Amino acid sequence: MHLTMRQSQLFTKTRKLAPKDEVAKNAQLLIRGGFIHKEMAGVYSYLPLGLRVLTNIENIIREEMNAIGGQEITMTALQSPTLWKKSDRWRDDSIDVWFKTELKSGGELGLATTHEEPLTALMSEYISSYKDLPKYVYQFQTKFRNEMRAKSGIMRTREFVMKDLYSFSRSEEEFRGFYEQCATAYMKIFKRVGIGEKTFRTFASGGSFSKFSDEFQTLCDAGEDTVHLHRGKGIAVNKEVYTDEVLADLGIKKEELEEVKAIEVGNIFPLGTRFSEALGLTYKDEKGAEQPVIMGSYGIGPGRLMGTIAEVLSDEKGIVWPKEVAPFSAHLISISGGNADVTAEADRLYGLLKENGVEALYDDRDARAGEKFADADLIGIPMRIVVSEKTMAEGGVEISSRTNGGTSIVPDSEIVERFKN
Ligand code: ATP
Ligand code: MG
Repeated sequence: MHLTMRQSQLFTKTRKLAPKDEVAKNAQLLIRGGFIHKEMAGVYSYLPLGLRVLTNIENIIREEMNAIGGQEITMTALQSPTLWKKSDRWRDDSIDVWFKTELKSGGELGLATTHEEPLTALMSEYISSYKDLPKYVYQFQTKFRNEMRAKSGIMRTREFVMKDLYSFSRSEEEFRGFYEQCATAYMKIFKRVGIGEKTFRTFASGGSFSKFSDEFQTLCDAGEDTVHLHRGKGIAVNKEVYTDEVLADLGIKKEELEEVKAIEVGNIFPLGTRFSEALGLTYKDEKGAEQPVIMGSYGIGPGRLMGTIAEVLSDEKGIVWPKEVAPFSAHLISISGGNADVTAEADRLYGLLKENGVEALYDDRDARAGEKFADADLIGIPMRIVVSEKTMAEGGVEISSRTNGGTSIVPDSEIVERFKN
């Protein structure tokens, strides 16, 4: 990806209005800013600005998964029914969001909704001894889900990339150790992408695998989930499992909880031996006895995360990207009013930023100041550098923050220093 870019070259343009049929705030803002394109309900393409944000989010997740020992792979979206029949998940009443298709040569295929079955089968070719364990494998891979509702913009789509990691352990204790490490890594990820303060580890249903799972829920009125939050302890309980028994287990009282709407940004599951037994993933222990591998799965949707950031960190003018995920770190804006000296100075600064490795978007377009500022607010790059006759007369450029609007005049010689790191 380009380090820097001239806005006049960007093929996307901002729009005043979002499509009429788009009801979600995240998609409205992202479409207006030129980050995404709506193909149909629940299906979106990522455009240059949007792809940069998505890639930044993915890279943060990748770093944190590598840090806990994850090994990255990519599996296929086309899946063989044979494996899913072994675990009895090919049936539509077992997985209700399947997209299924047919081979021309005959026979059914599935489009990946998740990857427990194919990965368990794959690992059985490499794991045979206790010495081969534990292992942690993950991917960023396209999932297809035939979702009934698609009203939450990029937060609930029918085709999306998921980061899914799977753990393979020898004992319940070894599994639990990693599960907690991964939960900590998830909180780091949510903090780095700017929603840490609003995101809570949430006690949730384990679905068909285990009694419980842990969700990561970001407080937001646009969320589809309802959770009961204990702000003091920083934990929450999903409405689905909100029972006296669960509250007692967690040591919390009804009176201490608030009912709030939230977005599930991540979910981690104990899988036990549900898939290793169905698909024959075993290892020989130290005594030579055959044992099923203990598994866990750990999902995050980078697109849903991006949509959540757009929902939670935006104002009436547009998105306010946190530094680590922003499409560029600086938005250089030239307000020349036809003055060639201003253009020359802005061009020079652009070159300087580029040479020093600062990711900058340069608004070099021939447009009115008001339009440039409105677009900059909508696109939401955290720091803005304005060059105009006025700033040149004051001996520098005007730097302002999208977060708090604070501005200051800074001499050119200090700009690079400000943006490095
Ligand atoms: P939900 O309950 O919201 O339908 P899920 O529990 O089915 O989600 P998981 O299978 O746990 O989802 O998927 C792991 C992560 O993938 C979720 O926490 C979310 O971040 C993301 N995700 C799931 N479904 C979608 C979707 N339809 N569109 C975008 N991201 C999704
Ligand atoms: Mg989930």
